[in-house]
Amino acid sequence: MRKVITEAESVLGVKYRVLDHGHVGLVDYMGGDEAIDNFARVSYGEGTRKTSERAGLIRYLVRKRHSSPLESTELAFNIACPIHVARQIVRHRTASMNEYSARYSIVPEVIYDDYSCQAQSDNNKQGRSSDLIDRGLESCYKSDIREIQDESFKVYRDMVKSGVAREIARMHLPLNTYTYFFWKMDLGNLFKFLSLRLDLHAQYEVRQFAHAIGCLTRLVAPIAFDAFVDYELDSVRMTSLDMRLLELLSQKGYNCIGAEIGDQLKEFIQTEGKAFGMGKREIAEFLEKISCETLDRDFSLNSLKVINE
Ligand SMILES: Cc1cc2nc3c(=O)[nH]c(=O)nc-3n(C[C@H](O)[C@H](O)[C@H](O)COP(=O)(O)OP(=O)(O)OC[C@H]3O[C@@H](n4cnc5c(N)ncnc54)[C@H](O)[C@@H]3O)c2cc1C
Repeated sequence: MRKVITEAESVLGVKYRVLDHGHVGLVDYMGGDEAIDNFARVSYGEGTRKTSERAGLIRYLVRKRHSSPLESTELAFNIACPIHVARQIVRHRTASMNEYSARYSIVPEVIYDDYSCQAQSDNNKQGRSSDLIDRGLESCYKSDIREIQDESFKVYRDMVKSGVAREIARMHLPLNTYTYFFWKMDLGNLFKFLSLRLDLHAQYEVRQFAHAIGCLTRLVAPIAFDAFVDYELDSVRMTSLDMRLLELLSQKGYNCIGAEIGDQLKEFIQTEGKAFGMGKREIAEFLEKISCETLDRDFSLNSLKVINE
């Protein structure tokens, strides 16, 4: 009989707010922790060793990256996000996706506007820093952008009204316009998506969607999800060069794990890391890993806001 997960059933069809006008909702699911357990246990025939209890087995699978039992579980979401965020989500090739068609239908005038103009980051070439640009300048840019958006939609409406094909009329609409789609993925690949899109190097906006997807996923497979957080999301992968550098530091009497790294020690790490053949970025990543900093993440449903329609 099909396994029903009460926690997941209770949120089916509920939309949770993400950014100013976006949402994520769980549309359907298949599987869960029990299915992962059953799929994995098929290998354990008569005469094999006794399998561990469910949590132990699932945590082992996730820790050792045995991903096929995780593929027993599927989740389908409905998502509303700005087009520039969808363009990142769509890069995850194992998803099945169907998007609202602006060739058939009229594009709703819903635009992502609730952002601030932060400066370009110095250390992350793709990202923003926490510094805001001058407030006056920001308000000028935002009012210019709103004007362009209003004008774009006005031209769009006029084009549609005068009979221009919708597929042509939509071409100039801004990337900040919201789009809508169904998106389905298996749990193993969903974890890969989450680990890339919850990472601090991912864009702030896509991280908000990944967070909501994570919270809903946790309802379907809580044991697997918590194992994913422990063994993947909040864990670090030490390379052989990292290990050699760590060993050297320990031999020199430095206890660097979770410790404050002063300028002198940092210089030592940079010189020795370079001698081991590590690049500048790799050494910076090493420093990040040994800092043991973890984010305070909350994947409970309480961290999401229901949309009251
Ligand atoms: C911070 C960040 C910055 C990025 N910057 C850029 C950028 O500047 N430009 C850009 O173009 N993209 C960029 N990307 C997108 C990135 O390059 C990937 O395309 C995206 O993250 C999808 O991840 P993936 O390819 O690892 O796996 P997915 O497509 O999510 O697939 C999941 C897994 O399925 C398997 N799989 C899927 N397809 C195949 C296949 N054909 N063959 C074999 N195995 C397969 C693999 O095991 C893979 O790990 C960025 C992503 C992030 C997170």
